[in-house]
Amino acid sequence: MQVDYLIIGQGICGTFLSYFLAQENKSFIVIDENESITPSKVSAGIINPVTGRRMVKVWMAEEVIAFAKENYNSIGNFLAIDTISQKNLIDFFPNVHQREVFTKRIEEGDPYLHPFPEQNQYTQFFNYYLGCGEVRHCYTAHLENLLPAWRKELKDQTRLLEESFELKFLEIRDDNIVYKEILAEKIIFCDGLSSFENLFFKQLPFAPNKGEVLLVEIPGLPAQHIYKKGFVLAPLTTKDHFWFGSNYQWNFENTEPTKEFYVQAESHLKAWLKIPFKISEHKASLRPATLERRPFVGLHPHQKNIGILNGMGTKGCSLAPFFAKQLTDHLVHKKEINPQADVKRFSKILAKA
Ligand SMILES: Cc1cc2nc3c(=O)[nH]c(=O)nc-3n(C[C@H](O)[C@H](O)[C@H](O)COP(=O)(O)OP(=O)(O)OC[C@H]3O[C@@H](n4cnc5c(N)ncnc54)[C@H](O)[C@@H]3O)c2cc1C
Repeated sequence: MQVDYLIIGQGICGTFLSYFLAQENKSFIVIDENESITPSKVSAGIINPVTGRRMVKVWMAEEVIAFAKENYNSIGNFLAIDTISQKNLIDFFPNVHQREVFTKRIEEGDPYLHPFPEQNQYTQFFNYYLGCGEVRHCYTAHLENLLPAWRKELKDQTRLLEESFELKFLEIRDDNIVYKEILAEKIIFCDGLSSFENLFFKQLPFAPNKGEVLLVEIPGLPAQHIYKKGFVLAPLTTKDHFWFGSNYQWNFENTEPTKEFYVQAESHLKAWLKIPFKISEHKASLRPATLERRPFVGLHPHQKNIGILNGMGTKGCSLAPFFAKQLTDHLVHKKEINPQADVKRFSKILAKA
């Protein structure tokens, strides 16, 4: 079988890359082993224009979020499913300092942070004593709908191989690559955590970060906002179901959920919520983060038939669509990739591969 591209991985990166390549009428095969726990499957799908305790604007917020909104909607329309909802975030101040930071950022004219005049709107649901503010232009991407629906589409078009990709079967030639019976012009790795061990890209400065989450049923809690008080509670597409998390661990022994997180998260929920809840699942995964917090996008600087779309870190839901399109435009139309994301910035390190 002969195709233009062989794509490894159908997380959020492989999904959008294959979607944009299909729009360019390019041929491809996606290989994905359908692991039940991956970062894309554990993610809350939150797209938030501000980040951190200092509530600063995220990198390329305007451009990336507008692009994400438009393109989740376009793939959603194509698949006839809901893929994104605007859900502004209600930030219940966990302490006086955080309230001061939020207020100061409003005074400075931050376009995303606003007072929330209905301070008592949530008193029947939550304990909060220091008030709350609103972060606007937030969204939840419904990866729980998108990933299986796009997978089915790929399967129906016989463009998906549901198996584990094994490097030992890959042959890199001067003008193409061969994998088992597939001949492709290029291979593009969208394999998330597997790239940490990938022969061609493992030298890149990945900085994996572990996060744990609880899936919680909370009958009656309104679903029009994302809520935050230290941890985040985000509505899922199933009625009364919420995602609750997460922590950020740079040092960890394994990728398994821990009792410590469960106990901490459950007691946080008990203290915060005034209404009954039931924990249905506890999951953990690693974020494919990078030391300099910028993604890895483009063709290998020394192997012209090998590419990568990875390193989305904590912001895969907003960054992946944008950089999947940049990579597509680079592959198909030879357009430049943002230099801060282009993997060729690691030309020296990758020469050692
Ligand atoms: C707890 C947690 C919460 C998060 N919350 C958010 C959030 O709210 N908002 C946000 O923007 N981001 C969030 N993230 C980050 C986000 O999930 C990631 O940035 C994003 O999912 C990475 O997508 P990816 O496609 O690069 O990788 P992945 O999701 O890892 O996808 C890679 C795919 O490749 C497949 N694969 C790998 N190796 C092979 C192989 N050898 N053969 C076949 N298939 C293979 C895997 O099975 C997988 O399907 C969160 C992450 C975690 C862990």
